[in-house]
Amino acid sequence: RRKIQGKIMKLIMAAPRGFCAGVERALKIVDEALELLPHPIYVNHEIVHNSHVVEFYKKKGVIFVEEIDDVPDGSSFIFNAHGVPPSLVKASKERGMKIVDATCPLVSKVHFEAIRYAKQGYKIILIGHEGHPEVIGVMGEAPDAIYLVEKPEDVDDLEFTQDDKIAYITQTTLSVDDCAAVISSLKKRYPGVSEPKKADICYATTNRQEAVKQIAEKCDVFLIVGSPNSSNSNRLREVAKAGKGLDAYMVNCAEGLDPKWFEGKQTLGLSAGASTPEKIVSAVVDRLKAECGLIEVSEFISREENEHFALPKIRA
Ligand code: SF4
Repeated sequence: RRKIQGKIMKLIMAAPRGFCAGVERALKIVDEALELLPHPIYVNHEIVHNSHVVEFYKKKGVIFVEEIDDVPDGSSFIFNAHGVPPSLVKASKERGMKIVDATCPLVSKVHFEAIRYAKQGYKIILIGHEGHPEVIGVMGEAPDAIYLVEKPEDVDDLEFTQDDKIAYITQTTLSVDDCAAVISSLKKRYPGVSEPKKADICYATTNRQEAVKQIAEKCDVFLIVGSPNSSNSNRLREVAKAGKGLDAYMVNCAEGLDPKWFEGKQTLGLSAGASTPEKIVSAVVDRLKAECGLIEVSEFISREENEHFALPKIRA
């Protein structure tokens, strides 16, 4: 590892970045479960989409599973922050598990909307990414009534008539701008489409994207710290790229950096996904200083965040 000779670069850190209220709540739930519930503690999928967080809890003995069959009857079982389909809730109850639900309340909001629209006889368009755990969970609430769309072009394939009662809901971690384009196509084709009172894309996704957008104006390269399967981290990289067509990279940790990315660049923007621990961001900044000629670090605060979500009662 060699320092790039004579190179001077400054860094603008985005704020808000990193952990959101939903992730903080989910991790506190795991901490409390480790203290209060019988071990081992099982967690469905990954508690949040960050490999460092998952490794941290694996070392504490937490077992992450993709299939409920891998959880013995009666075990302590935590549902991940992205939410789960009702079939999993039912199966866990039937098998006498001690369930703790770490679903983010803002994801639960989307589940409730799906349930309400389905009960009222709506056909529901879910804007989201196929295969994402949040989408699987929400679709499970009303599998016969929900239709998934990802892009504006997908709207052309919908076969509803103007007489159908239709509503849309969305995944919480989408690109605000891409989602707006899909909604606009939907409203053009179905002007009467119903929508949630408050947008489903959550405050944390919206605020992090807004900060990146504002900073990207002043930068000539951008870096997002987040794990490859983190939806909101991937969207941040796309947002950084979208405006001026910046080179925008995503790294899971400091070792993932390639100093070549910063050759000839003067101003680097940096943000982190909602599931990325700040200590990983600090390690990335340390390596930028040590090996990439970074000399000046500042922070751009686009908005203050004060959200906190209450914890569920966990009883042994
Ligand atoms: Fe909740 Fe948004 Fe955080 Fe997801 S990104 S856990 S929806 S606050």
